[in-house]
Amino acid sequence: MKITIAKSSGYCFGVRDAVNLAYDAAEKHGEVYMLGDIVHNENVVKDLEEAGAKVVDKLDDIPKDKPVLLRAHGTIQDTWKNAKKKNLNIIDATCPLVHEIHREVKMLEDEGRKIVIIGDHGHDEVMAIADQVKNPTIISTKEEVSLLKRTRKIGVVSQSTQMIENVQEIINALMVRIVDIRFINTICFPTKRNHEQIKDLAKTSDLMIIIGSFTSANSKRLTELAKQRNENTFQVTCASDLKIEWFENIKSVGISAGASTPDYLIKGVENRINEIKETLN
Ligand code: SF4
Repeated sequence: MKITIAKSSGYCFGVRDAVNLAYDAAEKHGEVYMLGDIVHNENVVKDLEEAGAKVVDKLDDIPKDKPVLLRAHGTIQDTWKNAKKKNLNIIDATCPLVHEIHREVKMLEDEGRKIVIIGDHGHDEVMAIADQVKNPTIISTKEEVSLLKRTRKIGVVSQSTQMIENVQEIINALMVRIVDIRFINTICFPTKRNHEQIKDLAKTSDLMIIIGSFTSANSKRLTELAKQRNENTFQVTCASDLKIEWFENIKSVGISAGASTPDYLIKGVENRINEIKETLN
């Protein structure tokens, strides 16, 4: 049985840097606080908590002498302002590519365009992008395009982890209704690379395993992407979710993981598959 792990699987550089910053800050200051989970992965959050990186609901819950870490996918402006007002030590772990989306969406608004953000409703990254401009419309599927009020000029950006196919469908639907559209493709390059590798691997493998939390929209998207090309696709959170019967009569296994899946979980899955391989031999 051949096992292939997609090169871009797992942490993107933005998440990796944010997690490392959280560990460093916890070590330096004893504790560091975050407003919500740093990544959508229960194992990572638990490990960080043990190291002193704690999750709180509001800035008021942070002790005055401890730093606050603002997460990779961006933060609404009020939180920035309030953290400064409270004189908290702010550690900015915002991914540079998210900062870039913020700049671009503001530039589109400055051109006098009504802003459309293609992304998941309620997702932290999408809310932080939306907060940069006045009254943007968030669209997650092509069906939602009909909710957009008639307008002449729009500027469109997307959440960094969107699937290009979904974005294309939405842009096509927008073109039917709007005359003047300027679209900046803000899907980030680690996401594009990861998606392309999954598409290729799913077509050439007998079985696809996607590792990621079921609470991560990004990981669910990867599973969907693989499943569209290979019905024999399963999502797991860690090695213990693997079932021996999935591997019977399988000659090639492709593995990928969401941007919030740490390396040790990927390694654990690989090791478990090697054990299963031995059992089946
Ligand atoms: S998914 Fe892309 S934009 Fe988001 S943190 Fe990772 S590299 Fe940055």
